[in-house]
Amino acid sequence: MKQLFLLSLICVFNLIGFSQTPAEKAKALSLLKKMTLEEKVGQMTQVTLAVIAKGGGANQDGALDPAALKDAIQKYHVGSILNTTAHALSVETWNKILTEMQDEAGKSRLKIPILYGLDGMHGQTYSLNSTLFPQDIGMGATRNPLLVREMAKVTALELRASGVRWNFAPVLDIGRQPLWSRFPETYGEDVYIGKTMGVAAIKAYEEDGLKNITAVASCMKHYLGYSNSRNGKDRTPIYMPEIEMREYYLPQFREAVKAGSSSIMINSSEINGEPVHASKYLLTDVLRKELGFEGLIVTDWEDIIRIHTRHNVAATPREAVAKAINAGIDMSMVPMDYSFYGLLLEAVKKGEVPMSRIDDAVTRILILKYKVGLFDNPYPEPAAVPNFGKPSYQTLALEAAHESMTLLKNKDNILPLSKNTKILVAGPSAQSISALNGCWSYTWQGKEEQWYPEDSKTIFKALSEKLGAGNVVTTTGKGFDNPLNYDIDKMISAASAVDAIVVCIGEDAYAESPGNTRDLALPKEQIALVEAAVATGKPVILVLTEGRPRFITTIEPKVKGILMAYWGGKKAAEAVADVLFGDYNPDGILPFSYPKSMGEIVLYDRKPTEEIREVFNDNINSGYDPLYPFGFGLSYTSFGYDALTLSSSTLTAATSIKVSITVTNTGNRSGKHTVELYSRDLYASITPSMKRLRAFQKINLQPGESRKVEFVISKEDLAFVNAKLKTVTEPGAFEVMIGDKKASFSYK
Ligand code: BGC
Repeated sequence: MKQLFLLSLICVFNLIGFSQTPAEKAKALSLLKKMTLEEKVGQMTQVTLAVIAKGGGANQDGALDPAALKDAIQKYHVGSILNTTAHALSVETWNKILTEMQDEAGKSRLKIPILYGLDGMHGQTYSLNSTLFPQDIGMGATRNPLLVREMAKVTALELRASGVRWNFAPVLDIGRQPLWSRFPETYGEDVYIGKTMGVAAIKAYEEDGLKNITAVASCMKHYLGYSNSRNGKDRTPIYMPEIEMREYYLPQFREAVKAGSSSIMINSSEINGEPVHASKYLLTDVLRKELGFEGLIVTDWEDIIRIHTRHNVAATPREAVAKAINAGIDMSMVPMDYSFYGLLLEAVKKGEVPMSRIDDAVTRILILKYKVGLFDNPYPEPAAVPNFGKPSYQTLALEAAHESMTLLKNKDNILPLSKNTKILVAGPSAQSISALNGCWSYTWQGKEEQWYPEDSKTIFKALSEKLGAGNVVTTTGKGFDNPLNYDIDKMISAASAVDAIVVCIGEDAYAESPGNTRDLALPKEQIALVEAAVATGKPVILVLTEGRPRFITTIEPKVKGILMAYWGGKKAAEAVADVLFGDYNPDGILPFSYPKSMGEIVLYDRKPTEEIREVFNDNINSGYDPLYPFGFGLSYTSFGYDALTLSSSTLTAATSIKVSITVTNTGNRSGKHTVELYSRDLYASITPSMKRLRAFQKINLQPGESRKVEFVISKEDLAFVNAKLKTVTEPGAFEVMIGDKKASFSYK
């Protein structure tokens, strides 16, 4: 009887589902009926701009090769194009070439428009003079989802003004392996921050409705576990038990799917020996069936080809294509040629890929094209163009850079410096723009400074403007690798005339595999530079421009101040100057644990056996021993917490608990402050973490002002993945912690 009832309920839901089928789906299905196999397979093919540009990848001005364009559309029926050629293009050029592409598409039999995709990763990467914001690692430090939202809105506006309606962002990978060269693109090591920020970005991209000139389709990436490479190198094997995958890597995607992201890009690596692009389990069983994702699944760069050429799990290129499409891939970022098109046609004709799978993939692609309004008007929208480059975006970029700045050390309150101080600015980042912006900045690697906006400032320039040129000296030269940056003798002699030395060190821009590193130690020349600056006897302040934590353990005790600037984007230099001279009170806090050395990479949500490290001679050391812990960041004011109170000492499945704490600004400057709530499950069937971040709120307090901050937690907030891979909350004792305050309750 019960079963019958359930069955009838399911039928009713199916019916409702069917009757609620969006208009786009009905249109897509009716168009699908008119399509030939060739046209369908073409829709599933995505090529890079170089394939249709004059001069290919070396193309400098974005001009298209009309014959190549015609081939792409009329011969191969290509559905999607991506990327730029050598560097960012002007909005006018984007509008022009996208118009040419849609003109050509308009001449095809079914006039199916082209879906163009770009990587707008921290702003619209590939339009000249777009506004670039801090990388996601810096946005993680802001603990401010509203800023993430605002920057995603600007990114959407600038993409759309460039004629592009599909953004390959946000990155939902989690930064738990600091060696990984894409660490800067993550929101850091914590699942909750990743979920919160990722969802904020997706909603901002899509919530206005994709037909609107203020929106773009988002693309969650890179599903799944991409960041967990065993050796820290990009696109190398991941070995991961499913319990870990579900605890740390899947939740962001689950939430992002719920938030309505339209598309997803797949992890280029392999997990436990299976390339994710060939994993029916991850693509169909987990992503489609369990997470309920209905949007478009696109591969990453060349990844179907690589199933054969690199992962070696398909003996032929065609087998690789069949594996990927049967696993659930809808669109192949081939993207350098049309090999996929021919191979998939063959595979279908030989019965290696069922027609139902092709129809399913093409339907999803067409739905997205309908949703973004390409069938209403495929052309760049003139009304969107004035939304490019508004002065308010610069203000927002400064705000985001300000809130990302993380003050790690301030011995004897050396900072803020008085504006009468004479300073020497040293180090490779002093006159580098690329070291302030990082990857995906007008070029893929972000290193070529000639493409940055002319009004981009270096730290040296921003400091000179603030203090007056006479008060700021440097012996550095332009560019990160300039030999002048390492001229220690010159630096020492210039130091005699100043009151303090600001040494700007860290990393220049890099992206993906070129950013692989053998060591997180800073290059010796940078350490030598800092040592020499310290030896002058002048106070030394370090500014770190880094996408991932680089070891500063040997120099840290010797310097007076340390400001972590990450890769802060267009306004990073101004933000650094504002913090150093007190025009902005820093409030960023670390989104990762800053390790001391290679052997001390332990994450904040460690297990008890990592917390207490027993050493043979009976010493018991703390096992979580970073240079600076997750969540650390100083302010020019101070904040005090009253006792933490709970609305109840018992939580049940049907209730929630309100956690309250009063925060007071006990110093004499106004300042922002993030209140972080952690929980600890004392005993559970799977070793619980020492702490897990469950919520945060950022507040702004005037000197002497107090505010009560409240959080509501329910059983879901305390859940974990058990041995049966189920997400559960087990009865027992729990603690909640805010700062050094703690309270206990039980879950019954
Ligand atoms: C990256 C992706 C990016 C794609 C297209 C790949 O190399 O892994 O994140 O979206 O290129 O540019």
